[in-house]
Amino acid sequence: MKILMYNVRQDEEQDIKNYQAKHDVEISTNNVPLSDKTVALAAGYDGIITQQHGSLGSEKVYEKLHSFGIKQIGLRITGYEIVDLDAARKNDLVVTNVPAYSPRSVSELVLAHTMWLVRHMGILTARESHGNFSWNGIESGEIHDMTIGIIGAGKIGSAVARIFRALGATVIAADPVKRPELNDTLTYVDHETVFKTSDIITMHTPLTSETHHMIDETFFRQMKSSAFFINASRGPVVKTEDLVSALENREIAGAAIDTYEGESATVGKNLDSKVLDKNLQKLLAMPNVNVSPHVGFYTDVAVKNMIEIALNDTIDILNDAGSLHIVS
Ligand code: NAD
Repeated sequence: MKILMYNVRQDEEQDIKNYQAKHDVEISTNNVPLSDKTVALAAGYDGIITQQHGSLGSEKVYEKLHSFGIKQIGLRITGYEIVDLDAARKNDLVVTNVPAYSPRSVSELVLAHTMWLVRHMGILTARESHGNFSWNGIESGEIHDMTIGIIGAGKIGSAVARIFRALGATVIAADPVKRPELNDTLTYVDHETVFKTSDIITMHTPLTSETHHMIDETFFRQMKSSAFFINASRGPVVKTEDLVSALENREIAGAAIDTYEGESATVGKNLDSKVLDKNLQKLLAMPNVNVSPHVGFYTDVAVKNMIEIALNDTIDILNDAGSLHIVS
């Protein structure tokens, strides 16, 4: 069985080699996304897998894959909005994704951001860079004495809840879906209670038409002025200019964002001295704001799981054994 993996990053190569050593499969890799221009590379393979930000290309890509005798498209990522599912169906291509590769990866980044914010590390570093070692205004709270508010306690939000509960914090969450297995970990409340009473608010909803820009000035005005805001979900969940204003007007104490609206212009790139957008420049200049370039998922465990789960699914589908991760 021959599988081609598109758009492989250097850091994925070793995990792919390890997988191949343990399984009866021949895996080739390239470093280009699947598209109209690159679909021809799939000729002669039994299956394909990709991870990429942009669309897989026009309907011709799906027709070509079908004409090569390929039966599936494996994604080694969660989001499948990049796939034209109608075109896939028309061309008998089964699409799989990796719905959960490591909820702990994102939740541990949330913990790191929280500790950075709570202990005022950005303010300390900024002061120390010009020789100021004063204690002025940097007394901090302690996590066990805080209320952590989670918006969206699904796979990642639940993992966040468990981490903070283990640290002794009070954990509350707003989520239309109530999970009985979290009853010992958190208390479900409405959105307003999360906004008004939390010391840390952390976003873990999907991006939908309902959650698009759900966090705006109205929300920030309800927050305690001593509270911190974290977004490691999707950038457009937050109206960035309202976050900037809330920070400038000291309506909140600080923020950490792993995801940013319009991040495809920056994430994974070394832009050197190129000019960044106005809001991002403002956020980066604030010592009480931490920006990470969408690295919540980026751990060794998660990368290995994305590769293994996508390859297992591809092999199962090629062997007519089905998969739990079919999205089409
Ligand atoms: P999930 O589907 O398991 O959980 C999402 C939860 O949000 C669900 O319980 C859902 O009921 C709830 N929800 C939906 N709308 C809501 C609303 N308006 N208010 C409150 N709750 C609402 O998803 P997940 O796997 O936990 O992922 C959560 C988010 O994290 C997604 O946006 C995903 O894209 C993002 N993510 C980020 C990274 C990263 O690297 N930063 C990595 C993976 C996933």
